[in-house]
Amino acid sequence: MAEEINRKKPKRKKIDRVDMPEQDPVKRSGNFNEVALGYSEEDALLEASRCIQCKNPICIKGCPVGIDIKSFIGLIQEKKFDEALGKIREKNGLPAICGRVCPQEDQCEKNCVLGIRGRPVAIGRLERFVADREMKCIADGTEESTWSKATRKCTKEKIAVIGSGPAGLTCAAELTKLGYQVTIFEALHKPGGVLIYGIPEFRLPKEIVKKEIEYVKSLGVNIEVNMVIGRVMTLDDLFEGGFKAVFIATGAGLPYFMGIPGENLNGVYSANEYLTRSNLMKAYRFPEYDTPIFKGLNVAVVGGGNVAMDSARTARRLGAKHVYLIYRRSEVEMPARNEEIEHAKDEGINFKLLTNPVEITGKDSWVDKIRCIKMELGEPDQSGRRRPLPIEGSEFDIDVDAVIMAIGQGPNPLLTSKIPGLELTGRGNIKAGPATGKTNIKGVFAGGDIVTGAATVILAMGAGKDTAKAIDEYIRTGEW
Ligand SMILES: Cc1cc2nc3c(=O)[nH]c(=O)nc-3n(C[C@H](O)[C@H](O)[C@H](O)COP(=O)(O)OP(=O)(O)OC[C@H]3O[C@@H](n4cnc5c(N)ncnc54)[C@H](O)[C@@H]3O)c2cc1C
Ligand code: SF4
Repeated sequence: MAEEINRKKPKRKKIDRVDMPEQDPVKRSGNFNEVALGYSEEDALLEASRCIQCKNPICIKGCPVGIDIKSFIGLIQEKKFDEALGKIREKNGLPAICGRVCPQEDQCEKNCVLGIRGRPVAIGRLERFVADREMKCIADGTEESTWSKATRKCTKEKIAVIGSGPAGLTCAAELTKLGYQVTIFEALHKPGGVLIYGIPEFRLPKEIVKKEIEYVKSLGVNIEVNMVIGRVMTLDDLFEGGFKAVFIATGAGLPYFMGIPGENLNGVYSANEYLTRSNLMKAYRFPEYDTPIFKGLNVAVVGGGNVAMDSARTARRLGAKHVYLIYRRSEVEMPARNEEIEHAKDEGINFKLLTNPVEITGKDSWVDKIRCIKMELGEPDQSGRRRPLPIEGSEFDIDVDAVIMAIGQGPNPLLTSKIPGLELTGRGNIKAGPATGKTNIKGVFAGGDIVTGAATVILAMGAGKDTAKAIDEYIRTGEW
């Protein structure tokens, strides 16, 4: 009997998932500071202690770039924070960003065994903790930067990357690690793509993005801004200039509109323009910064994804009293992350679900109302979600002075239309090999949103990584 008792494993104390401290909803809806405040060391150690270090860590299978999650959490358990970050960086060059914006609930955390009977390990929050900790230590001067140690000589062939979003940055970083001389050409005056112009400060501080980009630069990547390829230079110019391969990672920056009457009225924005004005041009700090933005008092945002949540929450912070989020399906079908939906609700965004705009009306060429119709859900459509159907005679008006369209984005044809013979899909995305990024033109690769359509940061990074491998193979073998 005594022997039996000895063989029993000591019972683990059940610890609840450690909550993320957050700014108070009332306070935060009046400022642009970050909402989620991050784990303290104590929080991180407690949360990491929940990981049971599975023999078969299936969490890793849920990570699109294959981070060794079990090992990095194990290192946190041993308080080896630098090594934990190093372990993440073996696979992911932008950990402070991914720890904040990746949909972990649909990826690694969805697979975590602890999720079967309770709540999964907060993998994303732990990733953010180690990345933030390093930045803080470097800023405090309590730790030497590991960045300069990463600097290496790049002597191999010249490679051009077009676009500095997560796909371009990742591909460039990976190629530089292999010794290539990489230049990123970016159309805007700041690098980062959606990370800098789309996702708002209160979700992803721009200082964090800047630091992650500094890391990529410290590897030896050269970034040239204000370079709209297709206008200031063509693809042929790049090849003639000695670049041996080109990676197109220009994203999905062209906004869609609904095609309803009134979309040309003053006060109607695409989410893209609205967020770019606020994030990139710092319109929220007008007149300290030059770019103005129309601060509606009653704002309607149309859409149900992350872009719609970001727009609604930005409008709120810019001083709107009433922000209506108009979405044609129900909350279950909303593509936005649950966390963003909850944050939006806490901040007082008024959800108008099963509702679709049919017209925007105006007075003196400015928006004054949005006319909507009630919807009901029918059978599932091609996307697998139940099809929204209008309920006849259910139209109603909402008084608004601004409307933000956040119903999706597509590829911008500015560059692709200037590449004769480049194969595109019916939607204008570039056709490229799934694991190689190879297009139908020798030496030209593509990846990220320009290939998949609007997707996620980590999928764009995964494409950048895979393509870097394929470019290396192409340069070494010359085979296409
Ligand atoms: C508002 C918003 C919120 C989002 N929130 C999330 C989120 O929470 N989590 C998540 O995972 N994903 C989110 N996404 C999606 C995610 O940001 C994208 O899937 C990802 O950024 C795509 O990366 P990319 O590198 O392919 O393109 P992008 O990030 O779009 O970068 C493309 C870059 O190419 C540049 N470019 C375009 N044309 C040219 C040209 N001709 N010459 C030179 N440069 C050019 C652009 O200026 C841009 O900088 C969000 C998207 C938006 C718009
Ligand atoms: S599945 Fe969950 S508990 Fe198991 S190693 Fe991964 S994070 Fe830890």
